[in-house]
Amino acid sequence: MALHKKFPGLRCACEPVAADRMERSFWMRLLPGIRAYRCRTCGTDFLASKRAMDALVIAQRQQAFESRRETR
Ligand SMILES: [Zn+2]
Repeated sequence: MALHKKFPGLRCACEPVAADRMERSFWMRLLPGIRAYRCRTCGTDFLASKRAMDALVIAQRQQAFESRRETR
């Protein structure tokens, strides 16, 4: 029952993304480039590639920058 809850899945839908890196368990080290994160908003554990998370964070920063400029 609810086996999927034992393993980190895909990212939650929280926006903007704020997640902390987590210590990986042994089996995660078998997945090169994949990192474990925990959402600061809802506490969901999920797996994502470092590259995907970096891209997400950069996109969010750009968005925040642009919306700040528009309100000025
Ligand atoms: Zn979340």
